[in-house]
Amino acid sequence: MAGRARYYDGKVAVAREVGVRPMSHELIITDAAGTAVVARWPAGELVVLGDTGHEKAPPVIRRGEEARLVIEDPELRRQLAQLMPPLAALGRPRPSAGPRIALFGATLAAALALFWLAVDVGSSAVAPYVPYGLQHRLGESVAEEMVDPQRTCHGVGLAVINRLADRLAKAADYMHPIEVRVVEGGPINAFTLPGGILIFYSDLIDRARDGDEVAGVLAHEMGHVTHYHAIKGLARQYGIDQLLKAITGGFSEIGTLSQGGSLLLALRNGRAFERDADATGIALLEKLGLRADGMARFFERMLENEPRDPATAIGIWSSHPPTAERIAATRRPATGTPAFSEVEWAQLRAICSDRPSSRPTQNR
Ligand SMILES: [Zn+2]
Repeated sequence: MAGRARYYDGKVAVAREVGVRPMSHELIITDAAGTAVVARWPAGELVVLGDTGHEKAPPVIRRGEEARLVIEDPELRRQLAQLMPPLAALGRPRPSAGPRIALFGATLAAALALFWLAVDVGSSAVAPYVPYGLQHRLGESVAEEMVDPQRTCHGVGLAVINRLADRLAKAADYMHPIEVRVVEGGPINAFTLPGGILIFYSDLIDRARDGDEVAGVLAHEMGHVTHYHAIKGLARQYGIDQLLKAITGGFSEIGTLSQGGSLLLALRNGRAFERDADATGIALLEKLGLRADGMARFFERMLENEPRDPATAIGIWSSHPPTAERIAATRRPATGTPAFSEVEWAQLRAICSDRPSSRPTQNR
């Protein structure tokens, strides 16, 4: 008996279709044709991750590894649950939607279960499986902490950049919503928060020579999104227990988290994260047939002037200016379709122009 599933190798965000064959002592993952073995996972090392309560297809991992298997086929799930005790959770039906209160209880229980799992497999490996709603709440709190809502822009260009983000997410098989927000002014930066929230400063768009440079930066940030780098970074900095407390408990905890600039520290991406985000970003652009030469070009320009604003300790400046090695690794020929049409690029550049520069007077 064999069935189909999606397999993420933990290095590239793109899923591949695989065959899954359960044996009594191991799970054999093969290529789609069933001819070559991709991985063999011993039964005793299998873990069902995530929120089995209401996630449609909680991923299966081998303990201690980053690769994951997403099994959506209900018949295969039922068989796996029957044949392999560690996968029993896959066979449980999702509870029907109950009242809000019960849902919140379930979320807390899932968070608690995740905490214990985190102790077991290591917090940064488990961080992606913190239920998405909780990741988004955390990202939202951090955004409130870092971005002045009065400076956000709502021009037509906002839909333009979000449309490209959605295309990139789809190409990556990323299953959660993405939201790009643009903040007027500087620094020249962009960064990614948990829960698929991307922040771009309009100075970055102004400084870009063309739309493909902005697309390159966006693709790089999407690389961080699909690898869950933001939540992993926060989990590493604070420990998943404290994070869960911050998400599930009062938001005042976030204030404590951000004290002394450690929030900026936690959101700094290390070199390995940057390299992964570069490679994934380029792969996604190429998968869509878009020009992929903008990323390296923008990186090169960053070498010219590095801002000294403390807020540039994060985002595209995390381990920057980018090294010559990263620029060489991301350099691509100027082929493919431009990411934005001329009209879209003009709209994107004007994204903050219809923003009222001062609040209207209250009554006169
Ligand atoms: Zn980055």
